[in-house]
Amino acid sequence: MTARTQDLEALTRLFRELKDCRRCEGMQGPPVHGEPVLSPVMMVGQAPGTREIERGLPFCWTAGKTLFRWFESIGIDEATFRQRVLMSAVCRCFPGKNPKGGDRVPDALEVQRCEGWWRGELELSRPRLIIPVGKLAIAQFMSLNRLNDVVGTQWDYQSPSGLSADLIPLPHPSGASTWFKMEPGRTLLIRALALIERHPAWREVRQSG
Ligand code: SF4
Repeated sequence: MTARTQDLEALTRLFRELKDCRRCEGMQGPPVHGEPVLSPVMMVGQAPGTREIERGLPFCWTAGKTLFRWFESIGIDEATFRQRVLMSAVCRCFPGKNPKGGDRVPDALEVQRCEGWWRGELELSRPRLIIPVGKLAIAQFMSLNRLNDVVGTQWDYQSPSGLSADLIPLPHPSGASTWFKMEPGRTLLIRALALIERHPAWREVRQSG
């Protein structure tokens, strides 16, 4: 058995264990994960919504429609993306609604409890390109004040274990967000998508299969 086959088996085992995770009282499961794929590209979202929990599928509702439209514009459609890109998230359960509208942002303890899952996926898949989607996801990889400062640029990332990857952040595609619909967000999003499109790991995903 090759080392990569062992990694794929370990990823499948990780998903089985993740499905049984019930560490957070304030979170609604069952936890959601993507396809078990060792990909040169890893995407990290925030947390699933109610539809994602019902269907056990990340980004399967309105925010997903916008997100997959962005990716389709740079050459990878939804079905291909789901098959060939490792889809992860900061938290894997639904945090509940925010009384002021939208979904509640997971708190620091929930983020910390769930961190081992996405870090495990990262170390097994060893992507060369990481796409964090939205502020909470971006903040797991770099210090962040405003989206304006980080979207539209490629960054270096090194994990605590020493794994290196390029980081190209995207805004969250939520319908509640206006950032990417107005300037400078609109232009920065176009710039970020162009960087992803040119990245060798993205090209590899496009050409594989
Ligand atoms: S949010 Fe993460 S750590 Fe908390 S119960 Fe769900 S899978 Fe487990």
